[in-house]
Amino acid sequence: MDLVEMTLDVMKYTIDRISNITPELGAPKKEEELLRIVGETITPNGIGGENAFKLFKDVLVKACVPIDHPRHLAFVPAAPTRAAIMFDLVTSASSIHGAYWMEGAGGIFCENQAMKWLVSLTGLPETAFGVFTSGGTAANLSAMVAAREEWRRRSSDNVSVRGLLLTSDGAHSSVQAMAKVIDADVVMIDNHDERITGAELRRAIEELEEKDRKRLFAVVATGGTTNAGIIDELDSIASVCEQENVWFHVDCAYGGGALAANSVRNLFNGIEKADSITIDPHKWLFSPYDCGAVIYKDLKHAKNAHSQKGAYLEIFKDEGAQGFNPADYQIQLTRRVRGMPLWFSLAMHGTDKYKQAIERGIELAKIAENKINESEHVEVVRPSSLSVVLFRRKDWTPDQYKDWTYKNHNSGFALVTPTTWKKETVARFCFINPDTTEDDIDKILASMK
Ligand SMILES: *Cc1c(COP(=O)(O)O)cnc(C)c1O
Repeated sequence: MDLVEMTLDVMKYTIDRISNITPELGAPKKEEELLRIVGETITPNGIGGENAFKLFKDVLVKACVPIDHPRHLAFVPAAPTRAAIMFDLVTSASSIHGAYWMEGAGGIFCENQAMKWLVSLTGLPETAFGVFTSGGTAANLSAMVAAREEWRRRSSDNVSVRGLLLTSDGAHSSVQAMAKVIDADVVMIDNHDERITGAELRRAIEELEEKDRKRLFAVVATGGTTNAGIIDELDSIASVCEQENVWFHVDCAYGGGALAANSVRNLFNGIEKADSITIDPHKWLFSPYDCGAVIYKDLKHAKNAHSQKGAYLEIFKDEGAQGFNPADYQIQLTRRVRGMPLWFSLAMHGTDKYKQAIERGIELAKIAENKINESEHVEVVRPSSLSVVLFRRKDWTPDQYKDWTYKNHNSGFALVTPTTWKKETVARFCFINPDTTEDDIDKILASMK
């Protein structure tokens, strides 16, 4: 297969795939089974591009769940725009190294244009800025390292002490996982799945032993919990952090897109006082994987924490080579300019289209809530929050929820999974894709009868 033929094949697949708004809802198979069907694919002479691509199209992609399926309402789905997907191909084809302005200036310029819009949504001061990361986990880690380094810089007493951070039981699992990476302790405010307020944070701080209080270097609040879309009371939490002189991080990996939605923007009041914020464009800003973002009120702290020094990195002499170096503000050195697909799509469509698409997700959650209220066999457990609704099928056991999920998935109809809410197994919708229809919701609710 020559280059032109291969390119045409790839483009044909890509165009077909992104034009298809209800792609086949694949499901996983055991590795042995996949191997039995496709055979070993890595051989001394290669199996040929045509053959490998055919195996991918006929077998392997069908063992994946397309996250943009309109009836994929599980976890946090996604719905990358066609423009962003096409530009993801362009990003790869352009071979841009995204660590330093010297090599990546044009690409980083694009990323920074998109970032400027993201920062403007937060209300942080003009001096705030951010950088695209591989996802929310890497963004949270980058922010936590910056917070910890800043705390250690303030006092030599802190240098050999293990840090401690406070968060709530609604925080994403990545907060605890990344605390492990930086060898910090986590104290969890158990708020029975409801939002935390400044008063609760204050109480939690006062309950710390004196030596632990001294180790407290950051508070992580959530701007849209992944499970229920709950936003902590950011304004009052910010005040407590300010009084305590503790870094205030807001994890909006899922909810960040909603900063663009006028109908709910007030729920995020206080976010403009954050020291750092995580937003995942690959969740609710219609970017392909992977694209997260971390924003800092003061980039200096991020630079102190992340800037890498090395003999071979010190050649940036001419003026054009001076500029924003993404490597200085997050954990990676070599990086894809992964904000470029978002940039192109934003530039093409304009920010209003984004606002509308995000508002639609919020509206779909309200519509679903109303439909649940009108149905006999289901009831709302928690009214919609951002684009999440929790509801129960009357009289179902946890196993019945699981059976229902598998039945819908195996038949290729929908992927909707249960979750746990206040210790009860319940059903959960998370809307992202603006192409999800009311009819989709009706049919899914009917599948629970
Ligand atoms: C999804 C999510 C994360 C993790 O982000 P990844 O992109 O999966 O690494 C962190 N925090 C919250 C609130 C999330 O919803």
